[in-house]
Amino acid sequence: MKVLVVNCGSSSLKYQLIETDTEKVLAKGLCERIGIDGRLTHTPDGKPKMEKEVAMPNHTVAVKLVLEQLTDKENGVLTSLDEISAVGHRVVHGGEKFAQSTMITDEVLRQIEECNELAPLHNPANLIGIRACEELMPGVPMVAVFDTAFHQTMPARAYLYGLPYEYYDKYKVRRYGFHGTSHSYVSQRTADILGKDIKDLKIIVCHLGNGASVCAVDHGKSIDTSMGFTPLEGLLMGTRSGDIDPAIMEYIAEKENLDLPAVMEVLNKKSGVFGLSQKSSDFRDLKAAAEADDELCKATLEVYWYHVAKYIGSYVAAMNGVDAIAFTAGLGENDNVTREKVCAYLGYLGITIDPEKNDVHGEERVITTDDSLRKVLVVPTNEELAIARETLALVK
Ligand code: ADP
Repeated sequence: MKVLVVNCGSSSLKYQLIETDTEKVLAKGLCERIGIDGRLTHTPDGKPKMEKEVAMPNHTVAVKLVLEQLTDKENGVLTSLDEISAVGHRVVHGGEKFAQSTMITDEVLRQIEECNELAPLHNPANLIGIRACEELMPGVPMVAVFDTAFHQTMPARAYLYGLPYEYYDKYKVRRYGFHGTSHSYVSQRTADILGKDIKDLKIIVCHLGNGASVCAVDHGKSIDTSMGFTPLEGLLMGTRSGDIDPAIMEYIAEKENLDLPAVMEVLNKKSGVFGLSQKSSDFRDLKAAAEADDELCKATLEVYWYHVAKYIGSYVAAMNGVDAIAFTAGLGENDNVTREKVCAYLGYLGITIDPEKNDVHGEERVITTDDSLRKVLVVPTNEELAIARETLALVK
């Protein structure tokens, strides 16, 4: 069966067409600058990558262009759109309503819309993408796969904040967590690689990309995760601050004469490793600068590694142990130094990294020594494949 996976942002749309029998990617691509001007990148399997500037006034036009590419005589991989059996949509926020992926119906669309308030930058764009696909592919089953769903198994002690209870009661202010599709996929792969049943394992997944979160997966269920009500909480990230004393916001607002939206902009876009290093949000730049003896970049990396290690320690406490730790996403998959530095804090767990095994980039591998008490792994994430599998499971 061929499943189209769609990840729609406010001005972008990423897609992959996956043959679910073989799990092969038949084509993938990206529409950028939707509503501004428009640029399409389309990579069909076994054929050259195609890039072109093309007007994309809205998401419906972008979806139409994608479908044209998929069936194009030269760059296409389909003879007819009828070959697409289902569409899987990434949806960022499912609130407390969605603990699982779901077939999209009018009622489901209405419920997703109710979650818009919780993710005002993401959910409305996800909905636009769904509606555009419905318009152009009427009758094709559509599935919503939520970033938050995997974390709905968290117990109240992990998701309640120390705030007046009525904020939870009235406004659903609580920890939701994100990157759920990735944490779910990577924890399951970790169990598979180790040849164990996930129900017998305590796993900590470190999803370290531009956005970053850590998740405690206890016997297959998320029981805690570092992102919270929004993706701002937890680790410091590319440009997000992660955990800070909330009182800093008032203090800085007064000192710098900023209003609340401006403070939020600082916390989301100008903080994290970018703000601290005063250099870059990209760890490759930070590492290069640190090697050239930039003291601030060195300090930034130390802060980052320390934060990751602290979260791992707290989840070892939460699960009363850990069997395996998995690193994933841009930095987790590619940066052996980050893995080594974080794991240097974990000697108390009987973890010993094998430097040769750790010299791996973007491949699945156990990177601890054979006598290490607990396993550490690199497990590349694949959210698109996870979405295609969820879609297949629901439409079958
Ligand atoms: P996103 O959250 O945008 O999906 P990714 O998972 O693609 O992010 O991760 C992007 C980040 O991964 C980049 O900012 C970069 O810092 C980091 N990264 C990618 N490759 C490397 C590498 N070889 N060494 C160090 N960092 C890397």
